[in-house]
Amino acid sequence: MQKLINGFHQFRTTVFPRERQLFRSLAHHQQPEVLFITCADSRVVPHMITQSRPGDLFVCRTVGNQIPQEREMDDAVSSAIEYAVEALGVKHIVVCGHSDCGAMKALLRPERVAKLPATAAWLRHASAAKSLVMHQHQDANENAVLRLLEEENVLVQVENLKTHASVASRLRNGDLQLHAWFYEIASGEILTYNLDEECFSPLAMAKTQLGGAA
Ligand SMILES: [Zn+2]
Repeated sequence: MQKLINGFHQFRTTVFPRERQLFRSLAHHQQPEVLFITCADSRVVPHMITQSRPGDLFVCRTVGNQIPQEREMDDAVSSAIEYAVEALGVKHIVVCGHSDCGAMKALLRPERVAKLPATAAWLRHASAAKSLVMHQHQDANENAVLRLLEEENVLVQVENLKTHASVASRLRNGDLQLHAWFYEIASGEILTYNLDEECFSPLAMAKTQLGGAA
C-alpha cells in the first residue's frame, strides 16, 4: 500500500504541475472518443498500452471483459455503456481481451471457481464462446484451446454489446464503430480482428472496424 501512497506523492509533486493545464481543462468536462471495455486483470493497463491521456478513454472493466446482453439487466455494465454512448457520444467502442486470462482459464476448468460462486455465475456470459471453441476444435491441446477461447470471447462480447439499444441505435445511424482487440501480455502486441481474413492480426496491419460507418 505504501507504494500507492508514494506514487500519489510523486504524481502530485511532479506529474500534476507539468500537466496542470490539461487537468484544468478537464475539471468540469469530459469528451472521450473511445469507450474501452477490458478485463479487470492488473496486467492490462489501457492508458499505457494505447499511450492515452486523461480524458481520452472512458473505461469499463469486468472480469473476463464480459458484457452481459441487455436483457440480463446488469446495471453496472449497461449504465457504463449507455452513459458513454448516449451522454458522452463516444465514436468508438473497443472490446479488448488478453492472453493468460484467468476468467477464460476458469471457464475451461470450472473447478477453479468451485468456491467462487459469483465468479462462476458471471462466467455464463462467455459460455457461447466456450461452446463454439469446444465444438470446432475438439483435438486442440489445452493451451491452444485457451487462446482460441480468449479470442472467441472478444467476438462474443462484441455481439453482446450490439444487443444494447443505445449501441444498436448508434450503429444504425452509422456514427459508432466497434473494434475487437486482443492484448498479448508477454509480447506487448495488440491484435485486432480482421474481417477479411476472419482472424486476429497485428493492429497496425489490419482494418479494425466491426460495425458502424464504412
Ligand atoms: Zn482476464
